[in-house]
Amino acid sequence: TKIPSFKLENTIEVPQLGLGVFLVEDEQELTQSVLAAIKHGYRHIDTAAIYHNEALVGEALQTSGIPRSELFLTSKVWNDAITYEDTIAAFETTLKKLKTDYLDLYLIHWPSEGYLEKWRALEALYEEGKIRAIGVSNFEINHLEQLMQEAKIKPMINQVETNPYFQQTELHDYLVKQGIQHEAWGPLGQGKGNVLEDNVIQELAEKYQKTPAQIILRWHLDRQVIAIPKSIHETRIQENREIFDFHLSKEDLVKMASIDKNQRGGADPTDDAWLV
Ligand code: NAD
Repeated sequence: TKIPSFKLENTIEVPQLGLGVFLVEDEQELTQSVLAAIKHGYRHIDTAAIYHNEALVGEALQTSGIPRSELFLTSKVWNDAITYEDTIAAFETTLKKLKTDYLDLYLIHWPSEGYLEKWRALEALYEEGKIRAIGVSNFEINHLEQLMQEAKIKPMINQVETNPYFQQTELHDYLVKQGIQHEAWGPLGQGKGNVLEDNVIQELAEKYQKTPAQIILRWHLDRQVIAIPKSIHETRIQENREIFDFHLSKEDLVKMASIDKNQRGGADPTDDAWLV
């Protein structure tokens, strides 16, 4: 079965599940991972300029033989692009590396210096038809408010750290209200913080005859959040995809809500020192 989509405000469809490739820089690992994902029906790949693997992703996708129109490709502009011109240049480099002439989704990676100017470049590229949807990543409510005051086009997605121990409840509700699609990075907790060993998740795994990873991914999707888990192992890539034959019940979603620790595992977007 085909992986279902969520529809963005501009009617573009995003496959609910994608493959993340952060920290996969080894050519063989990257190629195997992307080709395994394609084999198991993934069509959505999440990369970024700073992952230093866009060229390998582009090659693997070419090898796969899947028509470009069936793929959903996301990349992100890094913090070192500060001006409008930097951002356009970074975008062109990304296109070249990915061996394509458009992106499905392009994100401002962090709310770092110059993000308003970067947004103007994304708006221009969107209006030229070079990007099908534009958005941001690691934006807090205050960043979004500031951006939307200045913007012609509202961001369509905000990709932020989200897992059962860091559910981002306040931001999630805000995004829903604004019609901005929530996308989870680190959906499985990045292998940190033992979320896969959580008692409630283990209990639900038993109940639904699924693995803890599958319970967590199903929870993201049942909450209308896009998930882009990373794995370089075909068995896990396949496992992470086998989540379209069940849903968590309402009461189990309430149970999942109760295990939130509001505990960030990754970098803090409000920490300016990190963003320089
Ligand atoms: P993740 O939560 O996807 O965790 C990946 C790790 O989980 C793997 O390395 C593996 O150890 C484990 N895992 C995967 N499948 C499993 C399974 N079925 N069972 C048990 N363990 C399993 O973390 P991530 O890679 O950091 O996040 C996913 C993607 O999000 C990244 O690859 C990247 O594309 C994106 N991302 C974006 C940002 C951002 O700032 N926008 C930051 C981090 C990650």
